Amino acid sequence: MRAAPGVRTSPDFPVPDTMKAWVLGDPGQVALTDKPVPTPKRAEVLVRIDAVAICATDLEIIWHGPPASIQGGFAFNKNFTPGHEYMGTVVALGPGVDEYRIGQRVTVEIHAGCGQCKRCREGMYTACHNYGLNYGEVDKGHRANGFTTDGGFCEYQVNNINTLVAIPDAMSDEEATLVVTAGTAMYGLTELGGLVAGESVVVTGPGPIGLLGVAVAKAMGAQPVILTGTRDNRLKTGLELGADHVVNVRNEDAVEAVRRLNGGKGVDYVLECSGAPNAVNEAIRMVNRGGKVCLAAFPHEQVPVDIAHIVRNNIYLYGIRGEGKSATHRAEAFMSQKRFDATKIHTHTFALEDLPTALRYARERIEDAIKVVVKAKGVATRKMAAE
Ligand SMILES: [Zn+2]
Ligand SMILES: [Zn+2]
Repeated sequence: MRAAPGVRTSPDFPVPDTMKAWVLGDPGQVALTDKPVPTPKRAEVLVRIDAVAICATDLEIIWHGPPASIQGGFAFNKNFTPGHEYMGTVVALGPGVDEYRIGQRVTVEIHAGCGQCKRCREGMYTACHNYGLNYGEVDKGHRANGFTTDGGFCEYQVNNINTLVAIPDAMSDEEATLVVTAGTAMYGLTELGGLVAGESVVVTGPGPIGLLGVAVAKAMGAQPVILTGTRDNRLKTGLELGADHVVNVRNEDAVEAVRRLNGGKGVDYVLECSGAPNAVNEAIRMVNRGGKVCLAAFPHEQVPVDIAHIVRNNIYLYGIRGEGKSATHRAEAFMSQKRFDATKIHTHTFALEDLPTALRYARERIEDAIKVVVKAKGVATRKMAAE
């Protein structure tokens, strides 16, 4: 790290000048290189990355490009380091930072909005109007590590303090990488209506966000919580995380099953995490009149939607991006209280040096991989899937 006025470090956590960092080359190609350790500026700290989880969005970025936007374009061959679901230890403080201390363990959320646009002022910093405007002459101060700025598949990264979440000692590195995923589920439920005690929720799609959506909904007192999906092993994990009922849509019609399980009525909320082409049309038939549907996933192609059904039944449709309104802090509060065990979705751990293998496990769902974590410091203990 380059020394700079006002930047503080500690002999207990020496910071080297350079680090190992994976960079994205052509689509699907990552290479391990050396990069300078970045220096924190005002309102930033330097985080030593201890663990980073692989997200489906990382696979999207590495193989297809969007939603990453580097210097206003595709992320390929720009010396860009992907990875965004990481945690670690604060090892240097930028000028004026007194909110965190060196040696403190933190996990991160992704979006440091510009802080000055209309949406940032509303707490919707994941929908910042200056997204990706953080380079050269157009520097608006926006950062989304792993999307518009360097991310976490490396040893150190700078983070705005507004993206940090302090974590308790009792929370493992692996569990801490899952806070942001639970934060996305929390944000979806926040946008759907906040406290959902006693109201009925369907979660469609048992990916990481869907599974933690079940956990968060149940922890918020929703009743019943119904999870739909196609893989029995993931539905079983959903039951362990608090689902009252699960529906394998290969065996029965999802809409009919939801109505049967909810006393013949539609539910109050649907959190759509499957991205299946017909998911919206099914979700709007799972909710009751005036119900709300949050879309946290999407299909790659455009799909026809039954608008008339939405209008006639006063159904609300929300799209969400990431985790706004400090939802990650609320998710961490639930997790540190052990209101649910997010580690049930963590299946594998690899060393940082083995990132290509880890990516392959996540992409091809080898050994029923759900969340694959990569750990620095050469800790390559593999946690096997539960079955
Ligand atoms: Zn993610
Ligand atoms: Zn903004």
